[in-house]
Amino acid sequence: MRALAWHGKHDVRVDTVPDPDIINPRDAIIKITSTAICGSDLHLYDGYIPTMQAGDILGHEFMGEVVEIGPKSTLKKGQRVVVPFTISCGSCFHCKKTQFSACENSNPAEKQEISETAYGHPMAGLFGYSHMTGGYAGGQAEYVRVPYSDVGPIVIPDGIEDDKVLFLSDILPTGWMGAENADIEPGDTVAVWGCGPVGLFAVQSAFLMGAERVIAIDHFPNRLALAKKFGAEVINFKEVEVRDALMEMTGGIGPDACIDAVGLEAHGLAADNIIDQIKVSTFLGTDRAHSFRQAILACRSGGRVSVPAVYGGFIDKFPAGAFMQKGLTMKTGQTHVQRYLPGLLNAIVEGKIDTEFLISHRMSLEDAPEGYRMFHDEQNEVTKVVLKPGMVKSA
Ligand SMILES: [Zn+2]
Ligand SMILES: [Zn+2]
Repeated sequence: MRALAWHGKHDVRVDTVPDPDIINPRDAIIKITSTAICGSDLHLYDGYIPTMQAGDILGHEFMGEVVEIGPKSTLKKGQRVVVPFTISCGSCFHCKKTQFSACENSNPAEKQEISETAYGHPMAGLFGYSHMTGGYAGGQAEYVRVPYSDVGPIVIPDGIEDDKVLFLSDILPTGWMGAENADIEPGDTVAVWGCGPVGLFAVQSAFLMGAERVIAIDHFPNRLALAKKFGAEVINFKEVEVRDALMEMTGGIGPDACIDAVGLEAHGLAADNIIDQIKVSTFLGTDRAHSFRQAILACRSGGRVSVPAVYGGFIDKFPAGAFMQKGLTMKTGQTHVQRYLPGLLNAIVEGKIDTEFLISHRMSLEDAPEGYRMFHDEQNEVTKVVLKPGMVKSA
């Protein structure tokens, strides 16, 4: 089959590789119909994530048709499914608590060393995201093997196009959980840092959860315009001081809830020893947690801070005084995707959540290297690239 493989920094190629096979009884093989490039794929592209190996197949946001099943899969051939980016067994301590992203069984133990050091806990296995999360082949390919296929995938009824439901795989439940973790009450004012895909879904989710006002913060004009389209007021942090602006907009009190959907941007050098790898992968040695600090400093006393943004390692200048004295509550975590799928699928079908607005580019799988380049270089114009393995390569 054809698949998008990582070969090093800024070097991804569409290679011909062996088709995946059923390995375990609970596996299924999915023929990919749509797969997206994620902002976090750019960390791989930039060479910041350790334990990548040349030839690793990328992609953790995908959907397609079931073409083969193991004897213990509950899927049926011909079904259309969206697959969560987190791989979860469904039966361990954490999975039973619906904390799927902390699954203890899906990330092989010998692969957990860096993950444990960087994150304080071995993460669940992830598709297409390095060997510290299991080394699973990703879905930017014609086919993919889906482990625990009786737990993760959600079956999509006929008549609902791919582009409406593809983002159930990651960014929609991530934005939703980001808003849920902000414990929004009717009438609240909610501030959202970052108008990337997760932030924009957090904006929509916050309104659905009863927020009266949502204030979105970014500097890309196109992304701020999208937030406005969903009813948010906006702050361009290149033009004004964010905390001052938030205070002015909330009568000097601060937002009831603050959602950090930015996280640490990757800056550093890919390294080849484990300590440097951890420093790089956890963004140590940089001081990039502006949005995290701003969220804590701007939030009103007694308010809530939610952090769907990804952090690792340690952060300097954590405003512990403000956090404690204001009596803030903070919730965070990798998304427990499986928990949210049925409800969010309904919300899409009922037209309560718009998903397609995000897609700026649809391309063939063969054009994936160009898709990565564009998504990396043109962040204002390119909000989301969706690859269609069924499409013919552009001339
Ligand atoms: Zn993603
Ligand atoms: Zn589990």
